[in-house]
Amino acid sequence: MRILVLIVIGLLLYIIVGNLFRKRTTSKSQDELGKMVRCLHCDLHILEQEAVRSGDDYFCSQEHLESEQKK
Ligand SMILES: [Zn+2]
Repeated sequence: MRILVLIVIGLLLYIIVGNLFRKRTTSKSQDELGKMVRCLHCDLHILEQEAVRSGDDYFCSQEHLESEQKK
């Protein structure tokens, strides 16, 4: 009976550790892809590193940033 309990605990630990490892690898690959942001002017989705940023707002190009600021 004691062996059975040890096996169950071992299996549970294996599943928990496996899930933690899987979560870490998926979040890492998402970081590599970069965060997607939306252009405030035309709703186009672009990578955060490629977007033109103005405060908390993102734009796909300098022209859209300027036309939104003129409003
Ligand atoms: Zn745009």
